[in-house]
Amino acid sequence: MFQELAQLESLLERLDGHARIETLTRIRWQGHDFPVYAIVLGTLQPQAPTLGFFGGVHGLEKIGSEVILSYLQTLIEMLEWDRELQRRLAESRLVFVPIVNPVGVYRGTRANGNGVDLMRNAPIEGQGNTKLYSGHRLTPWLPWYRGDASRMETEAEALCEVVRRYLFEAELSIVLDLHSGFGIRDRLWFPYASCRKPFPDIAEAYALKNLFDHCFPHHVYRIEPMSEEYVINGDLWDYLYDSFKSSPQAGRLFLPLTLEMGSWLWLRKSPLHLFQRHGLFHPLLPHRQQRILRRHFTLFEFLHRCLLSPTKWAEQTHDQRVDNRRAAWETWYA
Ligand SMILES: [Zn+2]
Repeated sequence: MFQELAQLESLLERLDGHARIETLTRIRWQGHDFPVYAIVLGTLQPQAPTLGFFGGVHGLEKIGSEVILSYLQTLIEMLEWDRELQRRLAESRLVFVPIVNPVGVYRGTRANGNGVDLMRNAPIEGQGNTKLYSGHRLTPWLPWYRGDASRMETEAEALCEVVRRYLFEAELSIVLDLHSGFGIRDRLWFPYASCRKPFPDIAEAYALKNLFDHCFPHHVYRIEPMSEEYVINGDLWDYLYDSFKSSPQAGRLFLPLTLEMGSWLWLRKSPLHLFQRHGLFHPLLPHRQQRILRRHFTLFEFLHRCLLSPTKWAEQTHDQRVDNRRAAWETWYA
């Protein structure tokens, strides 16, 4: 047992009877046996708009798990009295996998117990100038190891399976996968991670960014395609997005987003934390951690509302789509 899993299990007790709770898989490692839980809050009607939260894919970046747990705690309290939230959940659903990589969170490692970087583990090749950190198959002793090409890791399979089951069937869905580490700003990344070309739903991503910029002009995020920063092999979200686009549901919208919390700022203010195991990826000072635990709730609420009110971004006319695609091209790809 470790702190984040204990916290999750105590939240599950409170959710019992109010949510669907699943054990997606169990990860056995050196005498431990860790569950990977999924929580489904709201309607189980398959086509209902769905927002997914994933954390702890990289175990070292456990702040992502902690932000999700903190949000779950808030939702549990609000569900008891907030009729507006109850109404939203009657026609939509929230899916949470707060700790995708329990061995990694337990050990404080990026990889899982097999030394595999789960966000490099999908069968998809990066195009262009890839580096060691883009993912490699040299040895699990180096970071960013992609694992065995013939099969995906259990944790990665579990993530894909829950996405296919609860998000692919939805008429409209968004994923938020929470990470930390890169740079001093909080970034919100949309596909692709594996190549520099625009992804097919770029007009919708651009319209969503515009809407967020207008509604929250002082928001903290830099919103861009992940490939703007680097190109990687084996990205699970590119893999899922492409497989969605070749499924019978391809006409719908499935938008996977990655929230990369910029932890270098936490470090810049306390450089000695560089020498602690979590220092590069985790806020070590309590006041900084508290600030980060609440910092992203506005974004979560915004995305949930956007799923239920899609007219301004996901229901564009042909001409709007052409205009938005051109604007996106000029903003990110020109
Ligand atoms: Zn990460």
